Amino acid sequence: MKILKGIPVASGIAIAMPFVLESEGRSVPLRQTVTGADLEKEIKSFYEAIEKARENILRSRDKLEATLGKGHGAIFEAHLMILKDPLLVESTIEEARASKVKVGYAFARNVQKLSQTIAGLRDPYLQERFKDIEDVGWQVMTYLTGRERRSLKNIKDKVIVLAEDISPAETADMPKGRIMGFATITGSRTSHTAIVAQALELPALVGVKELRDIIVGEKPIILDAVEGVLIVDPDDATLAYYKRQQVIAEQRTIELRKMKTLTAETPDGHRVRLMVNLELPLEVAAAVSTGAEGIGLYRTEFMFLNRTDLPNEEEQYKWYSQVVKAMGQRVVVIRTVDLGGDKFLSEESEMPEMNPFLGLRGIRMSLAHQDMFRTQLRAILRTGALGKVHLMFPMISSVEEFRKARVCVDEVKAELRAAHIKFDEKMPVGAMIETPAAALVADKLAREADFFSIGSNDLIQYSIAVDRGNPGTNHLYEPLHPAILRLIQMTINMAHAAQIPVSVCGEIAADPFAAVLLLGLGLDTFSVSPVSYNESKRIIRSITFVEARELALEAVTLATAQAVKELVRGRVGDRVMRNS
Ligand code: PEP
Ligand code: MG
Repeated sequence: MKILKGIPVASGIAIAMPFVLESEGRSVPLRQTVTGADLEKEIKSFYEAIEKARENILRSRDKLEATLGKGHGAIFEAHLMILKDPLLVESTIEEARASKVKVGYAFARNVQKLSQTIAGLRDPYLQERFKDIEDVGWQVMTYLTGRERRSLKNIKDKVIVLAEDISPAETADMPKGRIMGFATITGSRTSHTAIVAQALELPALVGVKELRDIIVGEKPIILDAVEGVLIVDPDDATLAYYKRQQVIAEQRTIELRKMKTLTAETPDGHRVRLMVNLELPLEVAAAVSTGAEGIGLYRTEFMFLNRTDLPNEEEQYKWYSQVVKAMGQRVVVIRTVDLGGDKFLSEESEMPEMNPFLGLRGIRMSLAHQDMFRTQLRAILRTGALGKVHLMFPMISSVEEFRKARVCVDEVKAELRAAHIKFDEKMPVGAMIETPAAALVADKLAREADFFSIGSNDLIQYSIAVDRGNPGTNHLYEPLHPAILRLIQMTINMAHAAQIPVSVCGEIAADPFAAVLLLGLGLDTFSVSPVSYNESKRIIRSITFVEARELALEAVTLATAQAVKELVRGRVGDRVMRNS
């Protein structure tokens, strides 16, 4: 028996025979020269290959929409856009003509160049997005070179697919009832493949590095996408154990599905708001299908990264309005861009900083680039005319900073008014509380902001002075550190004293133990990723407000995170933890 670790991206347990999906050998073909009529023929075949890839993507999109409903196919819109990208299409033809090389060669080189550039960027989220380029690029290549595309469609028996990587299109095409789940060597939590697997409720593990060295035998394997393990060659006792766990997991899925129609309310009638975080407009379908009460955090960095120019007002307006329209009358909190730290505009555009996380980041960066900031404010304010949009600023560290940002908002409003452009005059403007300084002056900030949103990811790293990405110190990154609980308590109390609402949009909101404490501290809104949505609702519904309050008030008096955990585990662990 061998137990391999991976990252669960779509929950569930599957037991079935393994099916190894061979990789497609994504290599650049040899450089061959070609001229004249032959080159023109090649170019024609290239356009045909793009058309075939387009049809294939449309088929995947329609299939996913037929299974899950309209909107879910939005993931594939990004793929369709890639097929129109001049960097891939026109520049391939130009290069083939200029260097008199085969189109396949020029194209594969372009795909590789583009994805290598992105792979070098430091934002893991963007890196994932650009895996899409690879997927689409190699799809075109297979049509261009006539190589048979590997297929999962003809699988007859129930299997668990094991592969180096699986594309979103392949995931959408997996025959239901026969493919019970999959595990891949590469991949990440935020990939489109993960999003499709979640939507299809297909247990999936990614990042199973040891899969490369494993020999799969004739026995069934176990995919535990709850705990994040893949068990090869299981013994009888393990198999029997997992058969029981599978039944429990299925019941749990059914239970979570029921959450959709229920409110985020404790058994003693304390109602909170439960929203989702969004990073890309195309994820809005996932947000809508969770039944979320709104978007508690719409990150806008995606538009600014990996390009040399800045997105103009119309481009931004288009992206924001897509989300706002999809959400109808539900709130969408748009955050102005949080550049700096680990998210750079482009490597050359700024002076190198010794400590970028303590440098020009978030609202500081926006205030230092007023044209960029005002353009974004115009676009956001205008989208307010289409729905319920709230505006908020990241990385606020003082009242002056908030005031300066608000002055910009007022000036932009005056410009829009003078130009008779529609916008929301009363758009609420909030401050993110993600520096200890902001939490400590929360009483003052609360008099000027319309709402607070606690960015716990940053609040934790700046309060404990620990870089989560640093393997030497990440054990110190502790959401339940009493210091964090106290800062949050202080923020909530100050906000309520000034009668403004508070949300938490960092990862802590989805942590079962922390969620109970946040509830008890009186948090108004939880904003979590769409994957955590139902589970968060279940937790809120599993404990009375009276109990949560008692627990929270005791937790903030304790000395250590360990003591906090023991307290919560002892009192309500059996109700709030996933596998109990
Ligand atoms: C946070 O810091 O908790 C937050 C939500 O912002 P981001 O993760 O985008 O920095
Ligand atoms: Mg943050």
